Amino acid sequence: MKVTRIAYSTALNPGKYAVLQEQARRLGRVRGEVWQRYGSIGGVGSGLRHRQVRDQWLAEDTPVSFGVLANAWKETVRDAMGDITANREAAKVQVRRAIVRRTDDPVQRKRMFDALEADRWADDPFLARQMRRHWKRGRNRTHDQIVVRADNYNNAVDGRGRLWLVVPGLEPRKMVRIPLSTTVAPTGTLRLILRGGRVEVHYQIDAAHLPSSRRSCGEATVGVDKGYTEALTDSDGEPHGERLGELLTSESDRLKERNRRRAKLRSIANTAAARGNHAKAQRIKVNNLGTAKRDRQATRHRARVRTEIFTAVHEVIDKAATIVAEDLTKRFTARKKLGKNINRRLAAWTKGVTAEALKNVSERRGSALVPVNAAYTSQTCHRCGRFGRRSGDRFYCTACGVVWQADVNAAINILHRLGDPDIALHTPHQRVKQILQDRADRHRTRLPVQDSSPATTARRRAKHPNRSTMSN
Ligand SMILES: [Zn+2]
Repeated sequence: MKVTRIAYSTALNPGKYAVLQEQARRLGRVRGEVWQRYGSIGGVGSGLRHRQVRDQWLAEDTPVSFGVLANAWKETVRDAMGDITANREAAKVQVRRAIVRRTDDPVQRKRMFDALEADRWADDPFLARQMRRHWKRGRNRTHDQIVVRADNYNNAVDGRGRLWLVVPGLEPRKMVRIPLSTTVAPTGTLRLILRGGRVEVHYQIDAAHLPSSRRSCGEATVGVDKGYTEALTDSDGEPHGERLGELLTSESDRLKERNRRRAKLRSIANTAAARGNHAKAQRIKVNNLGTAKRDRQATRHRARVRTEIFTAVHEVIDKAATIVAEDLTKRFTARKKLGKNINRRLAAWTKGVTAEALKNVSERRGSALVPVNAAYTSQTCHRCGRFGRRSGDRFYCTACGVVWQADVNAAINILHRLGDPDIALHTPHQRVKQILQDRADRHRTRLPVQDSSPATTARRRAKHPNRSTMSN
């Protein structure tokens, strides 16, 4: 089953809205024309499919005369034909009743039902008369909609984690970028409805992908650290969303390879053009350097990553009533700083999705999401509070002589930030560092010298068997 989802534009500038409105107005004229020609018996006869209509119109170069792009025009003709079909099918309900009234003969009934179903009613005088009576001439009433096919738009996320929908405008390659109030990217065919300065983006998703029930949250208080290999690691030492790293790495590798190949093809095309072989250059451009497949793959990949992250968050909330996490909405790395580095771009985007998932799923399932100051949580030892060394997925505390799993160590530190008397959410980085150093110094002066001896370390480790997943 399909369900309709609606995304809304946010703070769309009036200039862009005017461009979209003009496009919708012109497409409304296309719709009017379709209804005029094919919206009644006189126009359509029977059985004329919209592909034929379209081809017939294409031959007449109609999109140009309406001042719209061919794709928008095609989708609009298809959509209007769909409306006309619905209008005609509604009439058929009455005609079926008329057939039942007219004859008891099952063979006759079946013949007429079949003819009606297959739109061959024009050849039968009784059916044609009935259709003429019940199929009222309709007219187009839609002047505020733009239908955009799945391969004609893009979703883009900016440096601040905001989602933009990029749709065609009135001229080729003049795209209109619409900022959306959601971070859930619309998919499939879109219906843009313009209302009061705002764009509604209607699209359909498979109901099978929706959670079947509203599960309630768990009872524990859990700290989480976001990662790259795993979406989240919690303060109990459990990883969640373990396939994330693999998904991101394979995508990054694929993109690098694809960009390399595209660059090569582009240079071949440029060389051909320079030598006057424009046909070849054009062929490469059209067949090998298009964007439809690329965008489709990007959408698919994004959907997979989102599923992985949302699943991870659900797992955490299965056991948590309170989730303590880094404030992921802050400190997004500026886009220009990311440059062309695909890994860092993917990581920044992933961070935004994680923030969204934590917020939305918490709201839906009734758990509390508490953002804390995460400064230095990955650089200090959760047991003694001193600064250590992080190397890959390990964290070395020289004071304790212990190796922690780095993400688990960070998650526990994050959990401890809840209720920390000195470190508040907006305590500056430098100040946090000073506080941590002061604490470590105080700690050190109180501790006996043999604290870091192997025997003490072993004893301590035995006391916290769950916390240390690795040890040297
Ligand atoms: Zn330590």
